[in-house]
Amino acid sequence: MKKVKIHDKTFQLFIPYEKIRASIELMAEKMNKDLADKNPLFICVLNGSFMFAAELFKRIDLINSEISFVKLASYAGEHTTGNVKQLIGLNEKIEGRTVVVLEDIVDSGITIDNIQDQLKKLKPKEVSVATLLLKPDALIKEVELDYVGLEIPNDFIVGYGLDYDGYGRNLIDIYSVVNE
Ligand code: 5GP
Ligand code: MG
Repeated sequence: MKKVKIHDKTFQLFIPYEKIRASIELMAEKMNKDLADKNPLFICVLNGSFMFAAELFKRIDLINSEISFVKLASYAGEHTTGNVKQLIGLNEKIEGRTVVVLEDIVDSGITIDNIQDQLKKLKPKEVSVATLLLKPDALIKEVELDYVGLEIPNDFIVGYGLDYDGYGRNLIDIYSVVNE
């Protein structure tokens, strides 16, 4: 079994690239039908989703489609108790658009729920969510996911854009942590 060591942890091969690619191809096929004539705006949530977004977007054969990139910035607001995550980097007009959020992984669902709330305030025509990976057992928020690549167990993973403390994003396959 192929293994990699990142910082203090060992990871073993979990999802080979071919399987990731096949799930993205299926997703793109479905989107090409669903989004035809909708002039969709894809929004890639950085950093983790960059590889998934690239793989997906080159398979979208709708010429009238756009992609943009956002990040979530955490800040301690003056009037907030905890950390509020604000969407930054969005320059496109969202009002009246069909928006498709591209996420690497949905775990508790808190991040995607927060992103959806912020986008809805900008009055899009519709927002759908595509996630490459979903941990169904970790979900605590009720989120509606329109496209799910692969469901995985509740283990920590790296690779294909996902990191462990900055490292591991360049791995073409997905690895899961070995509990030692
Ligand atoms: P949620 O808000 O759904 O709990 O978490 C979503 C975010 O947590 C993801 O976008 C991702 O950045 C991070 N995350 C969740 N699970 C994993 C994992 O197994 N590995 C890595 N590298 N990041 C994860
Ligand atoms: Mg993410």
